[in-house]
Amino acid sequence: MAATGLRMGVVGGSIAGCAMAVAGLRAGADVTVYERSAGALQDRGLGIVIPPALHERLVATGYLDAAMPTAPVAARVWLTRAPDGRSAREFARQPSPVTPCNWGLLWQALRTASSGARHHRGRPVTAVERTASGGAVVRTAESEETYDIVVGADGHESLTRRVLAPGLRPSPAGYAVWRGTLPLGALAEHRRPLELLRDAWVTVGFPGGHGIFYLIPRGGGGADDRLLAYAIYATPPGRSRGEAGYVRQLAEEYFPQEWAEIVAHGEHTAMTCHPVADLHAPLAADPPFLLAGDAAGVTRPHTASGAVKALQDALCLEEALRASASAAGALRHYARERTPEGARLVDLGRRLGRAQVERAPDWTAMDQGAVEAWCRATLAGTSSYLYAD
Ligand SMILES: Cc1cc2nc3c(=O)[nH]c(=O)nc-3n(C[C@H](O)[C@H](O)[C@H](O)COP(=O)(O)OP(=O)(O)OC[C@H]3O[C@@H](n4cnc5c(N)ncnc54)[C@H](O)[C@@H]3O)c2cc1C
Repeated sequence: MAATGLRMGVVGGSIAGCAMAVAGLRAGADVTVYERSAGALQDRGLGIVIPPALHERLVATGYLDAAMPTAPVAARVWLTRAPDGRSAREFARQPSPVTPCNWGLLWQALRTASSGARHHRGRPVTAVERTASGGAVVRTAESEETYDIVVGADGHESLTRRVLAPGLRPSPAGYAVWRGTLPLGALAEHRRPLELLRDAWVTVGFPGGHGIFYLIPRGGGGADDRLLAYAIYATPPGRSRGEAGYVRQLAEEYFPQEWAEIVAHGEHTAMTCHPVADLHAPLAADPPFLLAGDAAGVTRPHTASGAVKALQDALCLEEALRASASAAGALRHYARERTPEGARLVDLGRRLGRAQVERAPDWTAMDQGAVEAWCRATLAGTSSYLYAD
């Protein structure tokens, strides 16, 4: 079926919402996007890593402009603090081709690609309801519109998901993630970390957690127009959510000196901390509703797959709309493919979180062979693009 004339309403205009709008438009649907925020979303996120093959496919199919800057690297380096107490010890290096993106630039590229849709900004959806004829109504304070398909791309607290899975709650992991970005110019004196980061993304292991460091594009396309992005996973003391001071103290105590100085640097362009949690909707679609991105499921960030999943959700919807005889058939096709993938990623995130935070190994005792064996045992046969052979 070409979806010509099909009316598709999308709740949420972020990564998943814009990607789903592109999917609908490419399949021939008439698409309307409702976004709660009135402002531009560029500054909302930080670094987003995606697999190179997905990036190539999205460029080839027109979801992303080839000119969108990325900062690809081919390897992963594992570090911990050396016995001298200050320098870095590299204990493993693995092939791990990834394409780091800037969340804001990725959103902007998808927003541009979806400009054929009607985008309503500053328009929170207050309710979505089934109609007797098999469609759904999207209500806002100003409007009430009926659609053949309603896509819930409204994030981890999705209102749309409440219709499909009432009462579903996130499962807290019991630890937190601190994220930050810094301009490279602020780090001129940190020559060694920067040299390493030009070719690799870096994991720094410490007792009870780890940090991930990588470069992302800042705005322009040049190899030096980069930000350094990091995410540090640890269990904050007591029941607190964790303050910036805590992660700096942790880095000072356990990181190699130059990496601790990066975390403590005063020129951050962004810094956040939040508890890690996950959830998974038992069904990714039930006509006329469909869930995409974080609305369908949130995985612990160790998988680097939330935005990846949203983008794959969109590719799947486009294919399903083209291949199915009806909108309901397309949504059932989507549910068959995307429901198990969401569950697999949640499980993968839990495995990685257990291995790297909850039961973090003694990093000081790890070497290349130990890391490889530990990665194989953690993955236990499932795949992750971060852990290429
Ligand atoms: C530490 C960390 C690192 C990560 N790293 C990666 C990575 O490397 N790779 C990767 O792929 N993913 C990563 N992710 C995940 C990724 O950031 C998210 O999965 C992705 O941004 C989710 O996009 P979304 O569009 O589904 O949700 P959101 O960005 O949350 O968007 C939901 C949108 O819906 C709107 N909305 C909500 N309710 C309503 C309503 N009632 N009416 C209208 N609009 C509404 C909101 O305003 C918002 O704009 C990471 C996440 C974290 C926390």
